[in-house]
Amino acid sequence: MSPQANTILLALIPKNHVVTSVLDFRPLACCTVFYKTASKILCIRFKPLLQSIVWKEQGAFVEGRWKISLINTVILGMEQYWCVTLLIPKGVLNLITKFCKNFLWNSEEGQRKLVMKSWSSCCVPHTEGGYDIKEVLSWNKSIIIEWLWAIDNNSDSLWSIWNQVYNIKSANFWTMPIRAYHSESWRSILIVRNDLIARAGSLETTRRILSNCTKGGRLKLILIYDHFREKALRISGYRGVWQRAVLPKHSFIMVLAMQGRLATIDKLNQKGTCLVNQCIMCKAANETHTHLFFKCSFNAAVWKGVLQWLAMQDRTLDMRRELRWITNRRVRRDWKPHWYSSCLNAAVYSLWEERNTRIFRVLAFYKCNSEL
Ligand SMILES: [Zn+2]
Repeated sequence: MSPQANTILLALIPKNHVVTSVLDFRPLACCTVFYKTASKILCIRFKPLLQSIVWKEQGAFVEGRWKISLINTVILGMEQYWCVTLLIPKGVLNLITKFCKNFLWNSEEGQRKLVMKSWSSCCVPHTEGGYDIKEVLSWNKSIIIEWLWAIDNNSDSLWSIWNQVYNIKSANFWTMPIRAYHSESWRSILIVRNDLIARAGSLETTRRILSNCTKGGRLKLILIYDHFREKALRISGYRGVWQRAVLPKHSFIMVLAMQGRLATIDKLNQKGTCLVNQCIMCKAANETHTHLFFKCSFNAAVWKGVLQWLAMQDRTLDMRRELRWITNRRVRRDWKPHWYSSCLNAAVYSLWEERNTRIFRVLAFYKCNSEL
């Protein structure tokens, strides 16, 4: 094979005007098609192995990874990089939201699925009972405000200087009107500027908000997003759910459990489904959230077993109370609450999974009998 087939062209692009060391360059590798094909084949061959050698917490590139980080990094990341100065049309934003929703709840296009938590309540931080998903419209506006701030602060970037010379000229950026000949991106910046002033009430307040969202001489995107987004009430016990020791899929179910949003039989009946309300685990009481975690005799026995294993028999059988206890006890050097919350979240997840398996096994049995 010709050696040229495996050649890589490495281009070094300077990051600054003045280059003094190799660190001032950004490398750009231009690989041949042969190289790309070979690496793709290797990736496909290694993919099944990754599931067993990479820990679930670090599985950023493993198939089936944590859906919320995929939504935030891939879908909303595209918005951040591709539409930095463009106000995305509402119809497109609604479409993005729909894709994100379907992806999170495993719904197919056009399929009706029972969703127990509204999308707006998913798009708030963990402290407010959400999944910390970015709300697309506010995120889009916040990204544009970053550029707006750069212009207002006479940033020395080429983009900012170009706008000053060709768009603003001798006008005042804060008062200049939107003209028909303005480009789409410049128009977007001015629309967001008007929206920002209208929300704040005055130009002075707008500038104060922008200055409050600045740290170390730079505007913090997350702070400006926090200003724009819809707010919800702060919840108690969230620290018992969201921490490094807890697997994300366990936290996901725990949020639904602590807010009483799991699709238990009593909830399904409230929504018009007619099912016989009997707990499938103990068959002795109605199925509610309070019953499942952990008034149910079967679930309580499992949880007591976990407590015994942890040597923490003094704890109660009330899930919400335990989450509050973990939140109050959370001290950096105290390992006990971390370990305890990891077990509590895992127990709730596993019991809910077992409950679903039992219900679907029974339903499959009846379906099979009716077909016979
Ligand atoms: Zn029960």
